[in-house]
Amino acid sequence: MARSPPGIPVMTGPAPKSVGMVSLGCPKALVDSERILTRLRADGYQTVGDYAEADAVIVNTCAFLDSAREESLEAIAEAQASGRPVIVTGCMGSEAGLIRERFPDIAAITGAQAYDAVVEAVHRSAPQPFAELIPTPPAGLKLTPKHYAYLKISEGCDHRCSFCIIPSLRGDLASRPVAEVLTEAEALVARGVKELLVVAQDTSAYGLDIKYQTGQWRGQEWAANLEDLSQGLGELGVWVRMHYVYPYPHVDRIIPLMAQGKILPYLDIPFQHASPSVLKAMKRPANQEKTLDRLAAWRAISPKLTIRSTFVVGFPGETEADFDFLLDWLQEAQLDRVGCFAYENVKGAAANDLPDHVPEAVKQDRRARFMAASEKISRARMKKKLGHVMDVLVDQVRPDGVAIARSAADAPEIDGVVYVRDAARLKVGEFARVRIEQTDAFDLQAAPVGPPERRMHRVITRI
Ligand code: SF4
Repeated sequence: MARSPPGIPVMTGPAPKSVGMVSLGCPKALVDSERILTRLRADGYQTVGDYAEADAVIVNTCAFLDSAREESLEAIAEAQASGRPVIVTGCMGSEAGLIRERFPDIAAITGAQAYDAVVEAVHRSAPQPFAELIPTPPAGLKLTPKHYAYLKISEGCDHRCSFCIIPSLRGDLASRPVAEVLTEAEALVARGVKELLVVAQDTSAYGLDIKYQTGQWRGQEWAANLEDLSQGLGELGVWVRMHYVYPYPHVDRIIPLMAQGKILPYLDIPFQHASPSVLKAMKRPANQEKTLDRLAAWRAISPKLTIRSTFVVGFPGETEADFDFLLDWLQEAQLDRVGCFAYENVKGAAANDLPDHVPEAVKQDRRARFMAASEKISRARMKKKLGHVMDVLVDQVRPDGVAIARSAADAPEIDGVVYVRDAARLKVGEFARVRIEQTDAFDLQAAPVGPPERRMHRVITRI
C-alpha cells in the first residue's frame, strides 16, 4: 500500500483530480499562481505539467504590455486546444468581454488575486471524487526551485504612473500584516529556502496603508515598515533580496543593514528614466528625489551594493536632449545591471493620449544606444570582481561538471550568473565559495575554493 508522509492521510478510492497551470507575467503574478495552487492542493488537487494529464487548466495572464496581452491570448488558445476546461485569471481577467469573444467556451474568467473565484471554478469544472481533504502545507506550494522563493509583502499600488494599468487591475496598496509576512518567511526557510526575494508593486511603500501597524513575531514587536521588515528577515540567516524599491529617503535606513550583512547589498530600483520632464510626464514616484546623491551616499555606507534597474526610452515627448540627459545620468550613476524597453502603448494607459509619440525607429535606435552604454558600464564594474573570492548559491550542476550559480549581485531570472568549473561535487540549493577567474558584461566564470562560511550574507560584506 502507498505510504504518505507523516500527517498526510493515505487516500484510497478514485484518483484525485489534477490541474495544470500556465503562469505568465511578473514574480507578483507567480506568487498569485502559488497561492491558487496551494489552495487547490489543500482541496486534494494534484498539480501536473502536461495538458494531457490535467482535468482543468488555469491560465494566469499578464496584461502589462500589449505584447504580454498577445502572449496571454496565445496561452489561452493553446490551453483550449487541449480540450480541457480552461479558467482564465490574472491581469487580463479584467477584459472578460474580449476573451469571451475570442474563446466562447472558456470555463471561467476571474480578475487578478481572485483566489476564491479561481478555486471555485476549478471545483465546478473538475469536481473531486472524494470529500477528504489534505492538510495545507505550512508555507504553501511553490513554483520556484526549492532553494529560493518570492515573498509578496503587499498587493496593489497607490501611484498612477501614466504608462501603467496595474492600479486599475490590482487596486490600491494593500500591505500584509508584518507578523504574517515574517511567519511565512520563517516557514519557507524551515522548508529549505536559502534566498527570499521580497516583491511588491512598490516595496518601499510597505505598511503606509495600514499605518505601519505593529505585530508580534518571535516574542517581539515589529512595525509594518521596510526597516523592521528587513531587520526581521535578516534574523533568518538566509539571503534576503529587495526588489521594486523606489529611492525615497526612508530607504536610507535599510542600507546599514546591508553593510552589516543582515540583508543582501542589492537593490532593484525601477528608475525608468532620469530626465525630470520625462519622469514628470510618466508621473513616477520619487521623481523629485536627488537620486545620484542618494546612490553615492548608499555606496559610501555599503560599498558592495549592487543596483539593478529598468528603463523605458522613447516615452511620448522624450526629446533628444532628454535622452542625452539619461545617458549622462547613467554614466554618473554607474548601475551594475540594467534592462531597457522601447516604449509601447498599453491598452487603457493614460500615456497613450500624450502628445509627441516618438517614431519607432528612433525608439529602437535610442534603446540600442542606451544598452551599448550600459553594457560598457556593467563590463567595467564586473571586471573589478576578477580574483575576488565570494559565496554563490548553486542553481544547477550540469552533466559536464559546470555549476550555474548566483552571487549576491545576481537575482534569479533577471541578472547574470556565475559559471563554476570543476563543480561536480557542488549541490543544487547549497552555497559554495568560489574565486572569480573571468568576467564579461553579464556573467562571471569561477573555480571552487572550498566550503562556504556558515552565514553567507556575513561573508558578502567582506568581499
Ligand atoms: S509604481 Fe507605477 S509602474 Fe509601478 S505598479 Fe505603481 S503605477 Fe504601475
